[in-house]
Amino acid sequence: MTPERKKLLQELAAKHGTPLFVIDHQVLRDNFKEFREKLPDVQPYFAVKANSHPDIIKTMFDLGSSFDVASIYEFKLVHEHIKDWPEKKRQDFIWDKIIYANTIKPAKVLAKLDQYKILVTFDNLEELKKIKQHAPNVGLVLRIRVPNTGSMVELSSKFGAHPGEAADLIAEAANLGLNVEGISFHVGSQCNNFDNYIQALNFASSIFKEAQLRNIEIGFLRDGKRIKVLDIGGGFPVKYTPDVKSFALLAKKLNSEIKRSFKKDDIQVIAEPGRFMVATACTLVTKIIGKSIRDGKTCYYLDDGVYHTFSGQVYDHQHYPLHAFKDGDLKVCATFGPTCDAFDTISLADELPEDLQIDDLLYAENIGAYTLASATDFNGFPEARVVSINQENGKK
Ligand SMILES: *Cc1c(COP(=O)(O)O)cnc(C)c1O
Repeated sequence: MTPERKKLLQELAAKHGTPLFVIDHQVLRDNFKEFREKLPDVQPYFAVKANSHPDIIKTMFDLGSSFDVASIYEFKLVHEHIKDWPEKKRQDFIWDKIIYANTIKPAKVLAKLDQYKILVTFDNLEELKKIKQHAPNVGLVLRIRVPNTGSMVELSSKFGAHPGEAADLIAEAANLGLNVEGISFHVGSQCNNFDNYIQALNFASSIFKEAQLRNIEIGFLRDGKRIKVLDIGGGFPVKYTPDVKSFALLAKKLNSEIKRSFKKDDIQVIAEPGRFMVATACTLVTKIIGKSIRDGKTCYYLDDGVYHTFSGQVYDHQHYPLHAFKDGDLKVCATFGPTCDAFDTISLADELPEDLQIDDLLYAENIGAYTLASATDFNGFPEARVVSINQENGKK
């Protein structure tokens, strides 16, 4: 981290207090730009669950992103932001700008969604029946089960129809008078095994072919032509550590495999990147509120922890190494959160100077995805304050 950036973070912490969660919108813009440049034929639907802060949604919308929501709360959050915006700013991509990509939707939610022009995913017959009854006007995307091997967060045990049953489910939808627009999958989050994508694309391509052979209608009409949605989901990895393969390599593989397996004019490719957009855009500043030596090891007690921004350690299986603003010889130290629970252990092996004092500040980078989103107020310790920097309108 540059000295200028360190100074800025310290100034922000002095002004707003800690724990402080800093969103750098320039990094959001850079990430979005990289995604579009490397996957030019893929429209990103930002997965709101990775970080649903309204400032992030606004910036993503300004950039031309569409959105993947997974609850009525997230739907409303996005809809509130986009509904009053000038029509000309909306890219009328497919339907509108939202896909509701939770395959399981309560009946009540479906009834609410029915009035909007959105896509929803499904992966089983019971859900189809529910959709028929409560939301017959939404667009449908069938989610298939694909290999999640080598991904940090596995999703295939819970979601996705078996590829062998996919064409039958699409036919069932047609029997119910519903139209399936396309196919989606998710290779698992933080995917470092790019074969997952290749296999998933092969499944999707085979299902499209099978549907065609069996005269099962799939796709939506645009200018009299039938187009199929190919939703390649999320999973795009972030380089938290040097061993993570590069997004550039993945993008290259995706572009060539999509070109090889599908006709360009037949499909509309969308993706649901979550982590990729937000992880590197956020930094946490936290304060040392206590210090002790236990079993010869220096222990720092911080005002943020595992029940709060560091919740990503539990739910997302990530680590966010802590760094000091002050220089000093690095030693293995323990870092704990503020609550009365020993589970609130951030790390038993953070490398920090041993002579830090109470009220000194620490920071953790790349902490934007699945962190704030899953923070609680357990034990009465509030979530981190959030500040945005480098917003387009110049607001700090
Ligand atoms: C969580 C999720 C995403 C986002 O995944 P990332 O790995 O963060 O890109 C996309 N689509 C669906 C359906 C999800 O559940």
